[in-house]
Amino acid sequence: MQALLDTAHIGGLLRTYTRQEVTSALRSTLQALRGSVRSGRLTSLPDFDSETFATSVASHIEAERRPNIRSVINATGIIIHTNLGRARLAPEALDAIQAIGANYSNLELDLHTGKRGSRHSHVENLICDLTGAEAALVVNNCASAVLLSLMATAHGKKVIASRGELIEIGGAFRLPDVIEQSGAILKEVGSTNKTRAADYERAVDSETAVLLKSHTSNFRIVGFTSAPKREDLAIIARNSNTILMEDLGSGVLIDLSAYGLRDEPVVSDILKSGVDLVMFSGDKLLGGPQSGIIAGRGDLVGRLKSHPLCRAVRLDKLSLAGLEATLRLYREPHDPFQSVPVLRAIAQTIGEIRGRADRLADALIASGLEDVTVAKSAAYVGGGSLPQQDLESYAVSLSVPSYTVDAIVAALRAAETPIVGLIRSNRFVMDARTLTDEDLPFVLKAFRGLRGR
Ligand SMILES: *Cc1c(COP(=O)(O)O)cnc(C)c1O
Repeated sequence: MQALLDTAHIGGLLRTYTRQEVTSALRSTLQALRGSVRSGRLTSLPDFDSETFATSVASHIEAERRPNIRSVINATGIIIHTNLGRARLAPEALDAIQAIGANYSNLELDLHTGKRGSRHSHVENLICDLTGAEAALVVNNCASAVLLSLMATAHGKKVIASRGELIEIGGAFRLPDVIEQSGAILKEVGSTNKTRAADYERAVDSETAVLLKSHTSNFRIVGFTSAPKREDLAIIARNSNTILMEDLGSGVLIDLSAYGLRDEPVVSDILKSGVDLVMFSGDKLLGGPQSGIIAGRGDLVGRLKSHPLCRAVRLDKLSLAGLEATLRLYREPHDPFQSVPVLRAIAQTIGEIRGRADRLADALIASGLEDVTVAKSAAYVGGGSLPQQDLESYAVSLSVPSYTVDAIVAALRAAETPIVGLIRSNRFVMDARTLTDEDLPFVLKAFRGLRGR
Protein backbone atom coordinates (compact mmCIF):
# COMPACT_ATOMS: atom_id res chain seq x y z
CA MET A 1 0.00 0.00 0.00
CA GLN A 2 2.76 2.41 1.00
CA ALA A 3 4.73 1.52 -2.15
CA LEU A 4 1.70 2.41 -4.24
CA LEU A 5 1.14 5.68 -2.39
CA ASP A 6 4.79 6.54 -3.01
CA THR A 7 4.35 6.50 -6.79
CA ALA A 8 3.79 9.94 -8.26
CA HIS A 9 0.44 9.16 -9.88
CA ILE A 10 -1.20 7.43 -6.96
CA GLY A 11 0.33 9.74 -4.37
CA GLY A 12 -0.91 12.62 -6.53
CA LEU A 13 -4.50 11.51 -5.87
CA LEU A 14 -4.03 12.83 -2.34
CA ARG A 15 -4.17 16.35 -3.76
CA THR A 16 -7.78 15.73 -4.88
CA TYR A 17 -9.06 13.11 -2.46
CA THR A 18 -8.65 12.39 1.26
CA ARG A 19 -6.16 9.77 2.46
CA GLN A 20 -9.05 7.69 3.77
CA GLU A 21 -10.76 7.72 0.35
CA VAL A 22 -7.55 6.82 -1.50
CA THR A 23 -6.50 3.98 0.81
CA SER A 24 -9.98 2.52 0.89
CA ALA A 25 -10.25 2.66 -2.93
CA LEU A 26 -6.74 1.16 -3.26
CA ARG A 27 -7.74 -1.64 -0.93
CA SER A 28 -10.83 -2.52 -2.94
CA THR A 29 -8.96 -2.24 -6.27
CA LEU A 30 -6.29 -4.63 -4.99
CA GLN A 31 -8.92 -6.95 -3.60
CA ALA A 32 -10.71 -7.06 -6.95
CA LEU A 33 -7.40 -7.83 -8.66
CA ARG A 34 -6.65 -10.63 -6.17
CA GLY A 35 -10.15 -11.99 -6.72
CA SER A 36 -9.62 -12.09 -10.48
CA VAL A 37 -6.32 -13.93 -10.08
CA ARG A 38 -7.76 -16.41 -7.58
CA SER A 39 -10.81 -17.19 -9.70
CA GLY A 40 -8.60 -17.78 -12.73
CA ARG A 41 -10.20 -14.94 -14.70
CA LEU A 42 -6.79 -13.27 -14.78
CA THR A 43 -3.99 -15.71 -15.65
CA SER A 44 -1.13 -13.24 -15.62
CA LEU A 45 -0.85 -9.88 -13.90
CA PRO A 46 -0.96 -6.99 -16.35
CA ASP A 47 2.14 -4.84 -16.54
CA PHE A 48 1.89 -2.43 -13.67
CA ASP A 49 1.36 1.09 -14.84
CA SER A 50 0.85 3.55 -12.00
CA GLU A 51 -0.96 6.04 -14.21
CA THR A 52 -3.62 3.56 -15.38
CA PHE A 53 -3.87 2.25 -11.85
CA ALA A 54 -4.37 5.78 -10.48
CA THR A 55 -7.08 6.47 -13.06
CA SER A 56 -8.99 3.40 -12.03
CA VAL A 57 -8.61 4.29 -8.34
CA ALA A 58 -9.87 7.82 -9.06
CA SER A 59 -12.94 6.56 -10.90
CA HIS A 60 -13.58 4.20 -8.00
CA ILE A 61 -13.53 7.17 -5.61
CA GLU A 62 -15.78 9.21 -7.88
CA ALA A 63 -18.26 6.33 -7.96
CA GLU A 64 -18.15 6.13 -4.16
CA ARG A 65 -18.89 9.84 -3.92
CA ARG A 66 -21.93 9.66 -6.18
CA PRO A 67 -25.26 9.45 -4.36
CA ASN A 68 -26.92 6.04 -4.51
CA ILE A 69 -30.32 7.46 -5.36
CA ARG A 70 -29.97 9.62 -8.47
CA SER A 71 -31.94 11.21 -11.28
CA VAL A 72 -32.56 8.91 -14.21
CA ILE A 73 -34.19 9.64 -17.53
CA ASN A 74 -37.45 7.84 -18.16
CA ALA A 75 -37.65 6.85 -21.81
CA THR A 76 -40.04 3.95 -21.17
CA GLY A 77 -43.22 5.81 -22.13
CA ILE A 78 -44.73 4.78 -18.78
CA ILE A 79 -45.62 8.07 -17.12
CA ILE A 80 -46.10 6.82 -13.56
CA HIS A 81 -43.36 4.23 -13.16
CA THR A 82 -43.07 2.93 -9.60
CA ASN A 83 -39.48 1.73 -10.11
CA LEU A 84 -38.52 5.18 -11.35
CA GLY A 85 -40.06 7.12 -8.47
CA ARG A 86 -43.59 7.70 -9.88
CA ALA A 87 -44.60 11.35 -10.28
CA ARG A 88 -42.11 14.08 -11.16
CA LEU A 89 -43.00 17.04 -8.97
CA ALA A 90 -43.95 20.51 -10.13
CA PRO A 91 -41.50 23.38 -9.42
CA GLU A 92 -44.08 24.81 -7.00
CA ALA A 93 -43.99 21.57 -4.99
CA LEU A 94 -40.18 21.53 -4.99
CA ASP A 95 -40.06 25.14 -3.79
CA ALA A 96 -42.40 24.29 -0.93
CA ILE A 97 -40.30 21.26 0.05
CA GLN A 98 -37.14 23.39 -0.06
CA ALA A 99 -38.67 26.12 2.13
CA ILE A 100 -40.15 23.77 4.71
CA GLY A 101 -37.02 21.61 4.82
CA ALA A 102 -34.64 24.52 5.27
CA ASN A 103 -36.66 26.29 7.93
CA TYR A 104 -38.80 25.81 11.00
CA SER A 105 -42.47 25.74 10.11
CA ASN A 106 -45.97 25.85 11.60
CA LEU A 107 -46.27 22.10 10.99
CA GLU A 108 -48.17 21.59 14.24
CA LEU A 109 -48.68 25.15 15.41
CA ASP A 110 -51.91 27.07 14.89
CA LEU A 111 -50.75 30.55 13.93
CA HIS A 112 -54.16 32.05 14.82
CA THR A 113 -54.38 30.81 18.38
CA GLY A 114 -50.73 30.09 19.13
CA LYS A 115 -51.80 26.64 20.35
CA ARG A 116 -50.83 23.22 19.14
CA GLY A 117 -52.24 22.60 15.65
CA SER A 118 -52.77 19.57 13.45
CA ARG A 119 -50.56 18.74 10.48
CA HIS A 120 -53.66 17.53 8.65
CA SER A 121 -55.17 21.01 8.73
CA HIS A 122 -52.81 22.26 6.02
CA VAL A 123 -54.37 20.12 3.31
CA GLU A 124 -57.77 19.05 4.63
CA ASN A 125 -59.77 22.00 3.27
CA LEU A 126 -58.02 21.82 -0.07
CA ILE A 127 -58.85 18.12 -0.43
CA CYS A 128 -62.45 18.71 0.62
CA ASP A 129 -62.73 21.54 -1.83
CA LEU A 130 -61.38 19.44 -4.71
CA THR A 131 -63.33 16.26 -3.92
CA GLY A 132 -66.52 17.43 -2.22
CA ALA A 133 -65.63 15.35 0.85
CA GLU A 134 -66.79 16.41 4.33
CA ALA A 135 -63.39 15.65 5.81
CA ALA A 136 -59.99 14.31 4.82
CA LEU A 137 -56.80 12.91 6.26
CA VAL A 138 -53.37 12.30 4.77
CA VAL A 139 -50.96 9.48 5.60
CA ASN A 140 -47.79 7.89 4.24
CA ASN A 141 -49.21 6.17 1.17
CA CYS A 142 -52.36 4.51 -0.07
CA ALA A 143 -51.40 1.16 1.45
CA SER A 144 -51.32 2.66 4.94
CA ALA A 145 -54.51 4.59 4.17
CA VAL A 146 -56.27 1.27 3.50
CA LEU A 147 -54.74 -0.36 6.56
CA LEU A 148 -55.67 2.52 8.87
CA SER A 149 -59.20 2.80 7.48
CA LEU A 150 -59.89 -0.90 8.00
CA MET A 151 -58.22 -1.07 11.39
CA ALA A 152 -60.18 1.89 12.73
CA THR A 153 -63.55 0.70 11.44
CA ALA A 154 -63.51 -3.08 11.06
CA HIS A 155 -61.11 -4.56 13.63
CA GLY A 156 -62.66 -7.85 14.80
CA LYS A 157 -65.53 -7.44 12.33
CA LYS A 158 -66.29 -8.59 8.81
CA VAL A 159 -65.24 -6.87 5.61
CA ILE A 160 -67.13 -7.92 2.50
CA ALA A 161 -65.19 -7.77 -0.77
CA SER A 162 -65.77 -9.06 -4.29
CA ARG A 163 -63.69 -12.01 -5.52
CA GLY A 164 -63.10 -10.02 -8.69
CA GLU A 165 -61.38 -7.23 -6.77
CA LEU A 166 -58.99 -8.99 -4.40
CA ILE A 167 -56.00 -7.32 -5.94
CA GLU A 168 -52.27 -7.59 -5.53
CA ILE A 169 -50.24 -4.45 -6.25
CA GLY A 170 -46.48 -4.65 -6.77
CA GLY A 171 -44.34 -4.96 -3.65
CA ALA A 172 -46.51 -7.53 -1.88
CA PHE A 173 -49.58 -5.41 -1.22
CA ARG A 174 -52.27 -8.06 -1.32
CA LEU A 175 -55.68 -6.89 -0.32
CA PRO A 176 -56.65 -10.13 1.51
CA ASP A 177 -53.43 -9.91 3.55
CA VAL A 178 -53.97 -6.23 4.36
CA ILE A 179 -57.50 -6.99 5.54
CA GLU A 180 -56.12 -9.76 7.73
CA GLN A 181 -53.39 -7.49 9.13
CA SER A 182 -56.03 -4.92 10.05
CA GLY A 183 -57.64 -7.48 12.32
CA ALA A 184 -60.75 -7.67 10.16
CA ILE A 185 -62.25 -10.86 8.77
CA LEU A 186 -62.53 -11.05 5.00
CA LYS A 187 -65.80 -12.33 3.62
CA GLU A 188 -65.47 -12.93 -0.12
CA VAL A 189 -68.53 -12.71 -2.31
CA GLY A 190 -69.37 -13.25 -5.97
CA SER A 191 -67.01 -14.81 -8.46
CA THR A 192 -63.88 -13.75 -10.32
CA ASN A 193 -65.77 -12.26 -13.24
CA LYS A 194 -69.23 -11.49 -11.86
CA THR A 195 -70.31 -10.02 -8.58
CA ARG A 196 -73.69 -8.40 -8.01
CA ALA A 197 -74.99 -6.05 -5.35
CA ALA A 198 -77.26 -8.87 -4.19
CA ASP A 199 -74.15 -10.92 -3.31
CA TYR A 200 -73.07 -8.21 -0.88
CA GLU A 201 -76.62 -7.87 0.44
CA ARG A 202 -76.88 -11.59 1.18
CA ALA A 203 -73.53 -11.64 2.98
CA VAL A 204 -74.18 -8.69 5.30
CA ASP A 205 -74.87 -9.69 8.90
CA SER A 206 -74.61 -8.12 12.33
CA GLU A 207 -70.86 -8.79 12.38
CA THR A 208 -70.25 -6.81 9.19
CA ALA A 209 -68.58 -3.41 9.42
CA VAL A 210 -67.42 -2.61 5.90
CA LEU A 211 -68.36 -3.18 2.27
CA LEU A 212 -65.11 -2.80 0.39
CA LYS A 213 -64.70 -1.90 -3.25
CA SER A 214 -61.27 -1.77 -4.85
CA HIS A 215 -60.02 -0.44 -8.10
CA THR A 216 -58.64 -3.31 -10.16
CA SER A 217 -55.73 -1.09 -11.04
CA ASN A 218 -53.25 -3.36 -12.72
CA PHE A 219 -55.43 -5.87 -14.50
CA ARG A 220 -58.74 -6.10 -16.25
CA ILE A 221 -61.13 -8.99 -16.56
CA VAL A 222 -62.72 -8.91 -19.98
CA GLY A 223 -65.66 -10.80 -21.44
CA PHE A 224 -68.70 -11.62 -19.35
CA THR A 225 -68.20 -9.47 -16.31
CA SER A 226 -70.25 -7.47 -13.88
CA ALA A 227 -69.48 -5.48 -10.81
CA PRO A 228 -72.08 -3.85 -8.59
CA LYS A 229 -72.81 -0.16 -8.98
CA ARG A 230 -71.56 2.07 -6.17
CA GLU A 231 -75.07 3.54 -5.85
CA ASP A 232 -76.52 0.07 -5.15
CA LEU A 233 -73.82 -0.79 -2.62
CA ALA A 234 -74.41 2.58 -0.94
CA ILE A 235 -78.07 1.69 -0.39
CA ILE A 236 -77.10 -1.67 1.11
CA ALA A 237 -74.54 0.01 3.37
CA ARG A 238 -77.06 2.60 4.54
CA ASN A 239 -79.74 -0.01 5.25
CA SER A 240 -77.36 -2.29 7.12
CA ASN A 241 -75.54 0.45 9.00
CA THR A 242 -72.22 -0.57 7.46
CA ILE A 243 -69.55 1.56 5.80
CA LEU A 244 -68.95 1.61 2.05
CA MET A 245 -65.24 2.03 1.44
CA GLU A 246 -63.26 2.19 -1.78
CA ASP A 247 -59.56 1.57 -2.32
CA LEU A 248 -59.15 3.67 -5.42
CA GLY A 249 -55.37 3.45 -5.84
CA SER A 250 -54.59 6.06 -8.42
CA GLY A 251 -57.29 8.62 -7.75
CA VAL A 252 -57.85 11.43 -10.22
CA LEU A 253 -59.25 14.75 -9.14
CA ILE A 254 -60.33 15.86 -12.60
CA ASP A 255 -61.88 14.20 -15.60
CA LEU A 256 -59.33 12.84 -18.09
CA SER A 257 -61.82 11.74 -20.75
CA ALA A 258 -60.87 14.68 -22.99
CA TYR A 259 -57.49 12.91 -23.38
CA GLY A 260 -59.03 9.58 -24.23
CA LEU A 261 -58.77 8.13 -20.72
CA ARG A 262 -62.33 7.22 -19.87
CA ASP A 263 -62.19 4.45 -17.29
CA GLU A 264 -60.52 6.25 -14.42
CA PRO A 265 -63.20 7.31 -11.91
CA VAL A 266 -62.94 10.83 -10.49
CA VAL A 267 -62.83 11.05 -6.70
CA SER A 268 -65.67 13.58 -6.42
CA ASP A 269 -67.97 11.34 -8.52
CA ILE A 270 -67.19 8.38 -6.30
CA LEU A 271 -68.10 10.31 -3.17
CA LYS A 272 -71.24 11.64 -4.86
CA SER A 273 -72.34 8.10 -5.68
CA GLY A 274 -72.52 7.34 -1.96
CA VAL A 275 -69.10 5.91 -1.03
CA ASP A 276 -68.42 6.81 2.62
CA LEU A 277 -64.63 6.73 2.55
CA VAL A 278 -62.24 6.66 -0.39
CA MET A 279 -58.45 6.09 -0.29
CA PHE A 280 -55.98 7.03 -3.01
CA SER A 281 -52.29 7.73 -3.65
CA GLY A 282 -50.73 11.19 -3.77
CA ASP A 283 -47.94 10.21 -6.17
CA LYS A 284 -49.90 8.51 -8.93
CA LEU A 285 -52.28 10.48 -11.16
CA LEU A 286 -52.55 13.28 -8.62
CA GLY A 287 -48.92 14.04 -9.39
CA GLY A 288 -47.62 14.88 -5.91
CA PRO A 289 -45.15 13.34 -3.46
CA GLN A 290 -45.65 9.91 -1.89
CA SER A 291 -48.73 10.10 0.31
CA GLY A 292 -52.09 8.48 0.89
CA ILE A 293 -55.30 10.47 1.00
CA ILE A 294 -58.45 9.40 2.80
CA ALA A 295 -61.54 11.46 2.05
CA GLY A 296 -65.20 11.13 2.95
CA ARG A 297 -67.62 11.27 5.87
CA GLY A 298 -66.62 13.55 8.72
CA ASP A 299 -67.45 11.13 11.56
CA LEU A 300 -65.38 8.35 9.97
CA VAL A 301 -62.37 10.56 9.23
CA GLY A 302 -62.62 11.69 12.86
CA ARG A 303 -62.40 8.07 14.04
CA LEU A 304 -59.33 7.53 11.86
CA LYS A 305 -57.62 10.67 13.15
CA SER A 306 -57.91 9.53 16.75
CA HIS A 307 -56.75 5.95 16.08
CA PRO A 308 -53.25 5.16 17.48
CA LEU A 309 -52.08 3.83 14.09
CA CYS A 310 -52.69 7.28 12.59
CA ARG A 311 -49.56 8.58 14.29
CA ALA A 312 -47.52 5.61 13.07
CA VAL A 313 -48.43 6.25 9.44
CA ARG A 314 -48.41 10.03 9.50
CA LEU A 315 -47.07 12.03 6.59
CA ASP A 316 -43.72 13.82 7.03
CA LYS A 317 -43.48 17.59 6.66
CA LEU A 318 -41.62 17.57 3.33
CA SER A 319 -44.21 15.41 1.60
CA LEU A 320 -46.97 17.41 3.25
CA ALA A 321 -45.52 20.67 1.91
CA GLY A 322 -45.15 19.15 -1.57
CA LEU A 323 -48.67 17.75 -1.45
CA GLU A 324 -50.22 21.06 -0.44
CA ALA A 325 -48.39 22.88 -3.23
CA THR A 326 -49.47 20.23 -5.75
CA LEU A 327 -53.12 20.42 -4.65
CA ARG A 328 -53.03 24.19 -5.10
CA LEU A 329 -52.10 23.67 -8.75
CA TYR A 330 -55.59 22.24 -9.26
CA ARG A 331 -57.11 25.60 -8.35
CA GLU A 332 -57.30 28.96 -10.04
CA PRO A 333 -55.25 30.62 -11.42
CA HIS A 334 -53.43 27.42 -12.38
CA ASP A 335 -54.24 24.92 -15.09
CA PRO A 336 -53.28 21.50 -13.73
CA PHE A 337 -52.82 20.16 -17.26
CA GLN A 338 -50.00 22.66 -17.65
CA SER A 339 -48.64 22.78 -14.10
CA VAL A 340 -48.71 19.20 -12.84
CA PRO A 341 -46.04 17.20 -14.74
CA VAL A 342 -48.02 13.92 -14.68
CA LEU A 343 -51.04 15.61 -16.22
CA ARG A 344 -48.91 17.58 -18.64
CA ALA A 345 -47.38 14.32 -19.86
CA ILE A 346 -50.91 13.04 -20.51
CA ALA A 347 -52.20 16.26 -22.06
CA GLN A 348 -49.32 17.06 -24.41
CA THR A 349 -50.26 16.91 -28.07
CA ILE A 350 -49.06 14.20 -30.40
CA GLY A 351 -47.40 16.98 -32.43
CA GLU A 352 -45.26 18.00 -29.45
CA ILE A 353 -44.24 14.39 -28.85
CA ARG A 354 -43.42 13.84 -32.51
CA GLY A 355 -41.39 17.07 -32.53
CA ARG A 356 -39.35 15.92 -29.53
CA ALA A 357 -38.73 12.49 -31.05
CA ASP A 358 -37.60 14.11 -34.33
CA ARG A 359 -35.26 16.53 -32.55
CA LEU A 360 -33.70 13.69 -30.56
CA ALA A 361 -33.28 11.52 -33.66
CA ASP A 362 -31.73 14.39 -35.64
CA ALA A 363 -29.29 15.15 -32.84
CA LEU A 364 -28.28 11.49 -32.54
CA ILE A 365 -27.69 11.30 -36.27
CA ALA A 366 -25.70 14.54 -36.15
CA SER A 367 -23.57 12.98 -33.40
CA GLY A 368 -22.61 10.14 -35.74
CA LEU A 369 -25.20 7.39 -35.28
CA GLU A 370 -26.55 6.11 -38.57
CA ASP A 371 -29.37 3.71 -37.83
CA VAL A 372 -31.90 5.97 -36.06
CA THR A 373 -35.61 6.05 -36.90
CA VAL A 374 -38.75 7.64 -35.47
CA ALA A 375 -41.91 5.55 -35.34
CA LYS A 376 -45.35 5.52 -33.77
CA SER A 377 -45.37 4.06 -30.28
CA ALA A 378 -47.77 3.31 -27.43
CA ALA A 379 -47.23 4.94 -24.07
CA TYR A 380 -49.01 4.16 -20.79
CA VAL A 381 -50.16 6.07 -17.74
CA GLY A 382 -48.84 3.32 -15.43
CA GLY A 383 -48.99 3.39 -11.65
CA GLY A 384 -51.81 0.91 -11.64
CA SER A 385 -54.20 3.06 -13.62
CA LEU A 386 -55.84 2.31 -16.93
CA PRO A 387 -53.91 -0.90 -17.65
CA GLN A 388 -55.50 -1.37 -21.05
CA GLN A 389 -55.64 2.10 -22.46
CA ASP A 390 -52.55 3.20 -24.28
CA LEU A 391 -51.65 6.73 -25.21
CA GLU A 392 -50.61 7.57 -28.73
CA SER A 393 -46.90 8.35 -28.87
CA TYR A 394 -43.71 8.50 -30.92
CA ALA A 395 -40.43 6.82 -30.15
CA VAL A 396 -36.84 6.92 -31.35
CA SER A 397 -35.55 3.48 -32.28
CA LEU A 398 -31.88 2.77 -32.94
CA SER A 399 -28.98 0.40 -33.12
CA VAL A 400 -25.30 1.10 -32.46
CA PRO A 401 -22.54 -0.63 -34.47
CA SER A 402 -20.72 -3.34 -32.48
CA TYR A 403 -23.22 -3.15 -29.61
CA THR A 404 -25.90 -5.72 -28.94
CA VAL A 405 -29.17 -4.19 -27.77
CA ASP A 406 -28.52 -5.58 -24.28
CA ALA A 407 -25.12 -3.90 -24.28
CA ILE A 408 -26.75 -0.56 -25.19
CA VAL A 409 -29.24 -0.97 -22.35
CA ALA A 410 -26.48 -1.77 -19.87
CA ALA A 411 -24.22 1.07 -21.02
CA LEU A 412 -27.02 3.64 -20.81
CA ARG A 413 -27.93 2.40 -17.35
CA ALA A 414 -24.30 3.00 -16.32
CA ALA A 415 -24.24 6.57 -17.72
CA GLU A 416 -23.72 9.49 -15.35
CA THR A 417 -27.42 10.27 -15.79
CA PRO A 418 -28.79 6.80 -16.50
CA ILE A 419 -31.29 6.39 -19.33
CA VAL A 420 -34.00 3.76 -18.98
CA GLY A 421 -35.60 2.82 -22.28
CA LEU A 422 -37.20 -0.18 -23.93
CA ILE A 423 -36.22 -3.06 -26.19
CA ARG A 424 -38.56 -3.64 -29.14
CA SER A 425 -37.79 -6.00 -32.04
CA ASN A 426 -34.20 -6.20 -30.92
CA ARG A 427 -33.72 -2.43 -31.10
CA PHE A 428 -33.22 0.15 -28.38
CA VAL A 429 -36.29 2.37 -28.14
CA MET A 430 -36.90 5.66 -26.34
CA ASP A 431 -40.50 6.81 -26.07
CA ALA A 432 -40.72 10.59 -26.36
CA ARG A 433 -43.89 10.95 -24.26
CA THR A 434 -41.99 10.59 -20.99
CA LEU A 435 -38.95 12.54 -22.18
CA THR A 436 -38.80 16.29 -21.68
CA ASP A 437 -36.86 18.78 -23.79
CA GLU A 438 -34.55 19.24 -20.78
CA ASP A 439 -33.73 15.52 -20.89
CA LEU A 440 -32.38 15.56 -24.45
CA PRO A 441 -28.87 16.93 -23.72
CA PHE A 442 -28.39 14.19 -21.10
CA VAL A 443 -29.49 11.51 -23.55
CA LEU A 444 -27.02 12.82 -26.15
CA LYS A 445 -24.26 12.91 -23.57
CA ALA A 446 -24.92 9.30 -22.58
CA PHE A 447 -24.73 8.22 -26.24
CA ARG A 448 -21.50 10.15 -26.77
CA GLY A 449 -20.01 8.31 -23.78
CA LEU A 450 -21.13 5.01 -25.24
CA ARG A 451 -19.50 5.68 -28.60
CA GLY A 452 -16.34 7.04 -27.05
CA ARG A 453 -15.57 3.68 -25.51
C1 LIG B 1 -51.19 1.75 -6.03
C2 LIG B 1 -52.34 1.17 -5.27
C3 LIG B 1 -52.25 0.99 -3.89
C4 LIG B 1 -50.99 1.31 -3.13
O1 LIG B 1 -50.74 2.68 -3.13
P1 LIG B 1 -49.38 3.23 -2.49
O2 LIG B 1 -49.59 4.71 -2.47
O3 LIG B 1 -48.28 2.80 -3.38
O4 LIG B 1 -49.25 2.67 -1.14
C5 LIG B 1 -53.34 0.48 -3.23
N1 LIG B 1 -54.47 0.15 -3.89
C6 LIG B 1 -54.59 0.32 -5.23
C7 LIG B 1 -55.88 -0.07 -5.89
C8 LIG B 1 -53.53 0.83 -5.96
O5 LIG B 1 -53.64 1.00 -7.29
